[in-house]
Amino acid sequence: MSSIIQAVRGMNDILPEEVSLWQHVENTIQEVLKSFCYDEIRFPIVEKTELFKRSIGEVTDIVEKEMYTFIDRNEESLTLRPEGTAGCVRTVIEHGLIHNQIQRLWYKGPFFRHERPQKGRTRQFHQCGVEIFGIPTPDIDAELILLSATIFERLGFKDHIALQINSLGSPASRAKYKETLIAYLTKHTDQLDEDSKRRLNTNPLRILDSKNPAMADLIHHAPKLTESLDDESRLHFEGLLNYLNALNIKYEINPCLVRGLDYYTKTVFEWVTTDLGAQGTVCAGGRYDGLVEQLGGKPTPALGFGLGLERTVLLLQTLHQKSLALAPDIYFIADSEKTLETAFALSNSLRKALPEIRILMNCGGGAIKNQLKKADKSGARYALILGEQEAANQSIVLKNLRENNPQEIFPQQQIIEKLSGLLN
Ligand code: ATP
Ligand code: MG
Repeated sequence: MSSIIQAVRGMNDILPEEVSLWQHVENTIQEVLKSFCYDEIRFPIVEKTELFKRSIGEVTDIVEKEMYTFIDRNEESLTLRPEGTAGCVRTVIEHGLIHNQIQRLWYKGPFFRHERPQKGRTRQFHQCGVEIFGIPTPDIDAELILLSATIFERLGFKDHIALQINSLGSPASRAKYKETLIAYLTKHTDQLDEDSKRRLNTNPLRILDSKNPAMADLIHHAPKLTESLDDESRLHFEGLLNYLNALNIKYEINPCLVRGLDYYTKTVFEWVTTDLGAQGTVCAGGRYDGLVEQLGGKPTPALGFGLGLERTVLLLQTLHQKSLALAPDIYFIADSEKTLETAFALSNSLRKALPEIRILMNCGGGAIKNQLKKADKSGARYALILGEQEAANQSIVLKNLRENNPQEIFPQQQIIEKLSGLLN
């Protein structure tokens, strides 16, 4: 026997039983997006490496150590997308979609980061992302957050997930704050861990969201970003909070929320749960007013979020259900090759007349008794049985597999009427 080839570490298979939960999550999200009038956009999984370096920032975890980058056969450096915003922005610039236009867009698909795999953290993971272009005012920040809140409410997460929010201000006020923060942290370098020492002069804001308990006190007493906001950002933030209050959306202002990507300005937010252990951030996003220009487009205000599907499915499993596998409505049994031909024709007319119906055909033969065993195992509600005798007089047998009723025989031409009555 040959050796078995296993999947790449951190790139998980999603098996059929679990797929039903994924579909439930994806359908719920898509229904909400549709009701808010957002349009789907699709862009490639592979982009030029430069795109991510220029947008996410050179001194970030993603670009420094997490990207799947390779040289292709044309000697070009390419990268499997580690997040969606950069690719989406490239697409809308390249196709002129944001030229004097507002866009409300969404996408979903796989993303890739070389991280240490653990519960809620994989190397191929999946996100549903939303990006909005062309609106500078805080009403749209509120809409974006309302949209995410609606998704979580529909998934039944309301009491299990909380919104944290902060403002990073303008690039200028952030630069000023960066100096204040460096000055404060430099006074306490003895309390900084290795990672933070390295970040002190390159990306000191990231030190604020360190999870190292030994630094918690130091971070707690650090000067607050929200205190050094420029007037415009402060008004924007207050405007957003007013809308959230009016919408009755609960939030917690977290002055240490800085997000790991360089492109954010003003609003940043995360939806966090305590039901998943360490990997508690299910959805994260914010405003990135400078990114379109940074990637060669005209200055365009923009904002968005990424919602992690692995963590959403995990939370659904933890809180509500293990699986949503759909059993067939009908298991179709035929006792010979000849009757199977008629059975196929009947199942075909049933599917045409009742497109929602789920019919599982018994393929591969077997005695009726064995087929009935398979029917039971499939979880189907009913079995339709076509034996030689029924085929000869154009009737069919209906057996309720879940209740102990006697089976019924009726003419084949009544099959649609009969089943639509039973299954509705
Ligand atoms: P984390 O704090 O978990 O490292 P992040 O800040 O790197 O997350 P973002 O880039 O903001 O994450 O991505 C948005 C969402 O995508 C996260 O909140 C999370 O739900 C999900 N996500 C990110 N990385 C992974 C991963 N490696 N595996 C599974 N989900 C992920
Ligand atoms: Mg990360």
